[in-house]
Amino acid sequence: MLINCTQKGCLQQTEAKLDRTTNEVTCEACGNVIENITKYTKKALSDIGQVSRSRSSQPFQALCQQCNKNQPLYTEEERAFCKVCNTQVHISAAFMRGLKEYEKGQKKDNKKGKKK
Ligand SMILES: [Zn+2]
Ligand SMILES: [Zn+2]
Repeated sequence: MLINCTQKGCLQQTEAKLDRTTNEVTCEACGNVIENITKYTKKALSDIGQVSRSRSSQPFQALCQQCNKNQPLYTEEERAFCKVCNTQVHISAAFMRGLKEYEKGQKKDNKKGKKK
């Protein structure tokens, strides 16, 4: 289901996703919250499963033995630790690479909005 993004500089039709925790619809192309989405559209998005994961859940989680559930991780040198209890979590090398890339992306702060 395509939604028209209202963000200046984007204005694309995208498969915008509903965030069930905040009840906001986010543009897939620019990452901005799209205003003026009716509750009917939101319900439709929810019904067809066009929803984003809640903000609290992040990519690159792994099972922490200490917490006994999936937790976000942080890296220190070549090791990964549970962000919640700081226990080392053993992950594959590929996962580690991905996690480091992800952390790099986070640090950049995503402030490049304007392309033109
Ligand atoms: Zn957009
Ligand atoms: Zn933990």
